[in-house]
Amino acid sequence: MLQRINAHYVNGQWRTIAAPDWHTLVNPADGEAYACVARADAGLVNDAVSAASHAFPAWSALSFSQRAEYLAAFIQQLQQRRDELVEAVVSELGAPLWFAREVHVDDPLDAFAKHLDYAKVLQNEQLQLDARLKLRKEAVGVCALITPWNYPLHQIIAKLAPALLAGCTVVLKPAELTPKTALCVAMAADAAGLPPGVFNLVLGSGSQIGDILSTHADIDCVSFTGSTEIGRHIQQQAAATVKRVCLELGGKSAFLISPTEQLSAAVKLGVEDVMANSGQTCTALSRMLVHHSQYAEAVAIAAAHANSLTVGEPHQDGVFLGPLISAAQYQSVQRYIDIGLTEGAELVAGGAEPVAGLGAGYYLRPTVFANVHNQMQIAREEIFGPVLCILPYQDEADALRIANDSPYGLSGRVWADDAATAQQLAAGIRAGLIFINAAPWHNAAPFGGYKQSGNGRELGLKGVEEYLELKAIVDEGAA
Ligand code: NAP
Ligand code: MG
Repeated sequence: MLQRINAHYVNGQWRTIAAPDWHTLVNPADGEAYACVARADAGLVNDAVSAASHAFPAWSALSFSQRAEYLAAFIQQLQQRRDELVEAVVSELGAPLWFAREVHVDDPLDAFAKHLDYAKVLQNEQLQLDARLKLRKEAVGVCALITPWNYPLHQIIAKLAPALLAGCTVVLKPAELTPKTALCVAMAADAAGLPPGVFNLVLGSGSQIGDILSTHADIDCVSFTGSTEIGRHIQQQAAATVKRVCLELGGKSAFLISPTEQLSAAVKLGVEDVMANSGQTCTALSRMLVHHSQYAEAVAIAAAHANSLTVGEPHQDGVFLGPLISAAQYQSVQRYIDIGLTEGAELVAGGAEPVAGLGAGYYLRPTVFANVHNQMQIAREEIFGPVLCILPYQDEADALRIANDSPYGLSGRVWADDAATAQQLAAGIRAGLIFINAAPWHNAAPFGGYKQSGNGRELGLKGVEEYLELKAIVDEGAA
């Protein structure tokens, strides 16, 4: 008997759908259905928008520091649910337990907490420009937040925290594959005592209810993270009502390794970056660019390191890669591996076959292709699975040309033994977020894409501005 989840959070109340259309949740670790989730209908979505509209005047009239008090209570409620959030991510995404704790849950909670500091900055910002001119930052309005499944809590927090701090009220529509994380967030919002209508959650299919949100006259802003294809569609839908549209889309990021004495460390880091979350990371460094003089050695290191990473059931110790999230994602990645072979790339690790001993879960081995050139489909399209392409380059100019020869520009990493070269290469890549050498993720770095990776920025103080309008007030001045 499948667990039935029929819960949406609208105007501070839990709502159910009578006679719903059900979406079935499948455990990616074993391919078994375990729950079904009631999809919101148009009536409920409209109720959520109406609740957010009614809540907007009072919420946006609070000061940044007053809203920060609510956010502090919200963060506390999320922290109390840490174990529940971890278990939600493990069960719906198949993330290994350690990775779910450290990356899927603790990182976004930290990113949320940083917004309490941003509140202080915004509260104290001096906006009197001269005797007559004053600037006010005001909330953009009612926001639809549409999020993907690959880092479910990250994606929700990266929108929700700045939107609420800015004074916006929201309707959240998470990915259908990851409703449990979102429900946990709604329970925390409820327990934190946010005023009714400030935060609303509707669960359902993007193709059924997405357009209601993107075309709704009472929604002022749609913030979307997901594929470039759906982002384009949302922008078109939103055009008629001239909404603000913030898009965080796909990527095909490059890791540019300049000739180095630390080749092994660089290559291993690059392999782990792609294989983490089973490759379902928008910033994955899926194209590794290596100088021709070190190419053969890099390929050997990458293949050996990929083969050393354990694929397995998410709760088991020592597992680096869990399953892919769904049968569809699994088949899509298998298809790309076949395309790579057809295009003549050399498979040096992994492959499309099911992993022995892991039953019917959606597992793939870490896969590495060598002898890839940048016009191949596997080098141009986002695979969104544990597949690394290694490309040779001749010199720095060639490396930057290859890195930038992509419709995407989300992220990148450069590795160089001297700091000046690293900075120069970082400046040369057309992408929104570049890491140098082994630099780890930064929860306050503004995050967003150049080119078809989107527009706008999330996280950091800059991320709050996505949800702010600027009002100029011009006075008569002293007589
Ligand atoms: P997706 O298929 O584009 O879906 C993203 C969200 O959009 C889901 O909530 C989906 O709902 C919804 N949606 C689908 N059709 C819609 C429509 N017509 N109108 C409005 N919303 C609609 O992406 P995904 O497969 O979940 O995630 C993978 C993609 O996200 C990759 O391309 C990845 O690069 C990108 N991504 C980008 C970033 C970034 O910050 N740049 C971060 C993470 C992921 P359903 O689930 O109900 O279909
Ligand atoms: Mg999808």
